[in-house]
Amino acid sequence: MIYAGSHISASKGYEAMGKQALKLGADTFAFFTRNPRGGNAKKLDLKDVERLRVLLEEHHFGRLVAHAPYTLNPCGAKEEVRDFAFRAFREDLERMEALPGNYYNFHPGSHVGQGSERGIELIAELLNACLTPEQSTIVLLETMAGKGSEVGRTFEELQSIIEKVKFQDKVGVCLDTCHVWDGGYDIVDHLDDVLEEFDRVIGLERLKAIHSNDSQNPLGARKDRHAKLGEGKIGLPAFKRIASHPALSGLPFILETPNDDAGWAEEIALLHEFGNP
Ligand code: FE
Ligand code: FE
Ligand code: ZN
Repeated sequence: MIYAGSHISASKGYEAMGKQALKLGADTFAFFTRNPRGGNAKKLDLKDVERLRVLLEEHHFGRLVAHAPYTLNPCGAKEEVRDFAFRAFREDLERMEALPGNYYNFHPGSHVGQGSERGIELIAELLNACLTPEQSTIVLLETMAGKGSEVGRTFEELQSIIEKVKFQDKVGVCLDTCHVWDGGYDIVDHLDDVLEEFDRVIGLERLKAIHSNDSQNPLGARKDRHAKLGEGKIGLPAFKRIASHPALSGLPFILETPNDDAGWAEEIALLHEFGNP
């Protein structure tokens, strides 16, 4: 079985996110820990967070997959960009402990011309500066499409980040179907091979979540333009194979599709149907 949900706005608070998730038929969801374009985080209302925790438990939700802001780039060239990354990452991890035992997903970063090797070093530096052995949150490196100077298109790049991290038990990977497809991994015709390669290079035990998005572009396009499930180049039969794949059983499947509430509810029902036959 799998868990399925979409991105949910945090603007009305934490309990409201849980209620919205229930309305959509979700049993997991994603949310931005702060404005996705950056800036300071709103102060947490701990009673509100506690109400969400109870709701999640009552309704048997799987782990949530919080998303770091898009502007968080630990391998930016400018010092203020890296400073924001360190500050936001640390603060977000602290805030995540109010809702223990969930995932914090982030885009590893863009090296902006410094080279992927330097990028990998700087990303590992961020993790070594921020992860603690006490934290209950596992941070997830997201597989990237490889547009621009993004680090993390290949499983090898992600593994070389992980290898440099001290507290490796706090690190996992979130596989974004649109991103790996755009990055050149054929999950449509060679899903088993791709998962075997993931297992060989990183280890499937590190795979903690799936971003479930179709892609507007062909295999290897390195574009990163999401499409609704079944309306892109990946297609519904592939999503059926992915959601029902035994190696991915038990994982949260998060939609980041260009949809509305009614559309997400349909996609969530579809994923549940595929993943829990
Ligand atoms: Fe993402
Ligand atoms: Fe994603
Ligand atoms: Zn994307």
